[in-house]
Amino acid sequence: MSKRIVFLGPPGAGKGTQSQRLACSAALLHLSTGDLLRAEVAAGSALGQETKAVMERGELVSDALVLAIVRSRLAGHGGGWLLDGFPRNLSQANQLNGLLAELGQPLELALLLEVPEEELVQRLLSRGRSDDSEAVIRRRLAVYSEQTAPLISHYASRGLLKRVDGLGEVDAIAERIASLVC
Ligand code: AMP
Repeated sequence: MSKRIVFLGPPGAGKGTQSQRLACSAALLHLSTGDLLRAEVAAGSALGQETKAVMERGELVSDALVLAIVRSRLAGHGGGWLLDGFPRNLSQANQLNGLLAELGQPLELALLLEVPEEELVQRLLSRGRSDDSEAVIRRRLAVYSEQTAPLISHYASRGLLKRVDGLGEVDAIAERIASLVC
């Protein structure tokens, strides 16, 4: 069974829901950089104040910042983990690779949750998060295709990529994912 996993997919594909379920059923540490950043914003920390405006525009916060967050959580964690929303670009993927080599914890699987774009917009509009207005949604989708989608061929060329159909019932998708991870 794969124990060191990155979860890829566009905003609205269901990465949050599915990665939480998988982390829980497989006893993996679930690390969502979006959740961790939102917690900083909610706490009003200096880091949160710095990143709030960037997140509200649907842009990516700095690579150095998210890498520091991921590093602090993975270092010293001996078990399996699942990264949700990180890496978001090739530079983050390369830095993650360096960090994992340093920690002696190589990546085992990159799971790509696939959902067509029009379905994503509908899902995001009905979610009602503060960065889910239509203009910001379009921006986040554009940022995904420009910066994050290149990770698909990056991980495919390393033989680590598996694709999952993200359409259908939450339970059915969870079962597809479980069968790929085992
Ligand atoms: P998410 O919850 O994954 O959709 O992330 C929400 C927002 O947090 C994104 O639109 C970015 O502004 C920021 N964010 C989350 N993860 C990253 C990351 N790995 N790199 C840069 N920004 C991120």
